[in-house]
Amino acid sequence: MLAKKVAIITGSTSGIGLGIARGLAAQGADLVLNGFGQADEIEFLRAETERRYGVRVRYHGADMSRPEQVRSLALYAQAELGRVDIVVNNAGIQHVAPVETFDEAKWDAVLAINLSSAFHLVKAVIPGMRARRFGRLIHIASAHGLTASPFKSAYVAAKHGLLGLSKTLALELAEDGITSNTICPGYVKTPLVDKQIADQARAHGISPEQVVRDVMLSHQARKEFVQVEELAALAVFLASDAAASMTGAALAMDGGWTLH
Ligand code: NAD
Repeated sequence: MLAKKVAIITGSTSGIGLGIARGLAAQGADLVLNGFGQADEIEFLRAETERRYGVRVRYHGADMSRPEQVRSLALYAQAELGRVDIVVNNAGIQHVAPVETFDEAKWDAVLAINLSSAFHLVKAVIPGMRARRFGRLIHIASAHGLTASPFKSAYVAAKHGLLGLSKTLALELAEDGITSNTICPGYVKTPLVDKQIADQARAHGISPEQVVRDVMLSHQARKEFVQVEELAALAVFLASDAAASMTGAALAMDGGWTLH
């Protein structure tokens, strides 16, 4: 379905980004992976994805908090694979603390990685997409792009901002064959969430088990974590020709969380 398409997936050495990368590769897309990790583990992932799906897979280690590195990621994809058709803005970090003690450097980092990186990457790839009259911009926000929780001021602000950016892109690019959509997952069991369980236990003064039951899944009506593969299937649809008329949407995949 996505043969000859080239996708950049930010933050794809782990969790949701890796799952989406595999989903796009399974449909024939060539990939540029990005994210942090051990060099040998990343090379294993890159080579394994290439072998398993028979597509070209490259890796670029841009720190998404650094605009000049974000731009070099876009240039690298174009130089190595010839074009960029699909961008998945997925890289993200979380920091949990009451607002009056929220570390200022953490605020800046959460905004830079979760929101500004999407602006810089999209800005760099749009000219090529416009020229080819095809583009798919997919942003991984969160249920926290639609609603708020205490102790997550920077994350909630960044994810709400990502929805605003996506809607604006949808309007600006609508006549050029480029769509922009946001996926808003509920809780997904990934390394990011594993870390949050510990952080939230400290912030709320409760046990890790109570965090999962009473905080994380309390609003998620299905009482189950969202699966990475479910998000990958939605991203594949958004990248496909069948989704040409879907633009500017904020798609909750959250087990019913944001219905409350
Ligand atoms: P994760 O921690 O498993 O993966 C995050 C990825 O981002 C990793 O590959 C990491 O190396 C990369 N990354 C972090 N900082 C980076 C930087 N400065 N530059 C480049 N790469 C960087 O997290 P995840 O749970 O898979 O989260 C992925 C996205 O999904 C995030 O934007 C997150 O906010 C969002 N999300 C996650 C959940 C969840 O429950 N896990 C729910 C809603 C939204």
